[in-house]
Amino acid sequence: NRLANQIAAGEVVERPASVVKELLENSIDAGAKRLTVEVENGGVKLIRIRDDGYGIPKDELALALSRHATSKISELEDLEGVATLGFRGEALASISSVSRLTLTSNVEEQESGWQARVEGRDMEAQVMPAPHPVGTTIEVKDLFFNTPARRKFLRTEKTEFSHLEEVVKRLALSRFDVGFTLRHNQRSIHQLRPASTQAEKDRRVAALCGPKFIENAVIIDVEVSGLKLYGWVGLPTFSRSSADLQYFFVNGRVIRDKLVGHAVRQAYRDVLYGGRHPTFVLYLELDPALVDVNVHPTKHEVRFRDGRTVHNFLFSTLNRALGEVRP
Ligand code: ADP
Ligand code: MG
Repeated sequence: NRLANQIAAGEVVERPASVVKELLENSIDAGAKRLTVEVENGGVKLIRIRDDGYGIPKDELALALSRHATSKISELEDLEGVATLGFRGEALASISSVSRLTLTSNVEEQESGWQARVEGRDMEAQVMPAPHPVGTTIEVKDLFFNTPARRKFLRTEKTEFSHLEEVVKRLALSRFDVGFTLRHNQRSIHQLRPASTQAEKDRRVAALCGPKFIENAVIIDVEVSGLKLYGWVGLPTFSRSSADLQYFFVNGRVIRDKLVGHAVRQAYRDVLYGGRHPTFVLYLELDPALVDVNVHPTKHEVRFRDGRTVHNFLFSTLNRALGEVRP
């Protein structure tokens, strides 16, 4: 069974960034409002995530680490409502099969916290008392220590960390109501307090996307017959790295979609001369019944029921807004 987990782990756990993605999504699913991510050596040596979610009771700790143990049955049935799922109770099992994992948690009803440890293929989780406030801390140490072939595919510390930071960045952009802290090798990388006002959101976007982006960006907030577009549209830039400054969320999920990309480029076309790249952080909200979110979590594609209407809406809204930033 642990072997099966290791095989499954190949899909879930490609690198430290994928571990962080799964763990943070679990924390958010657990209603966490403050997340702390501490990593060492790009996440290979250590990933520690602390949340203030509702926690895991003692008698469910070992279960959470076993395969196909999900507490999210209702969400599984309602796949459209599943913002974060996809691995259906396999993430923790998979991660624990290729690392030394410690899960410490406490729930409101318990007097103290409990901790479960598993190391690689060890069959059983050891459970022991451990002080912890309500919420969960997961430590993942020595990723791929028992799968050298997988370990060989890891890139430099810097590259692994930048993938990991990107995961945190996307989540931080999709959940302004949640506070995020990211530290790498004891150094503070991001410290983002929950943001609710426009000014607070501006500050978060500035911290994540750079002050330059936000200084020149136009804020969009338009709703037309059930389609809502919110966010920041920035000046196109020459900088190669700004090709990465293109975030588009549909109902809270980051996507990269042809139709969306086309509408955005068209809207920008008058200002895109000379190989400039658009820069934007945008959120489209629409009736979930009008969009098919690809269930595979690594694919970021969607299918709109009425693509033409969405395209027209995006194009016209952005084109109008870009009139304001046109140099
Ligand atoms: P899934 O998220 O698909 O259910 P996981 O393997 O990621 O599967 O997690 C297994 C279970 O462990 C979850 O269903 C949840 O009940 C519990 N769990 C994991 N992480 C947390 C957390 N941070 N807070 C509360 N419960 C958690
Ligand atoms: Mg999960």
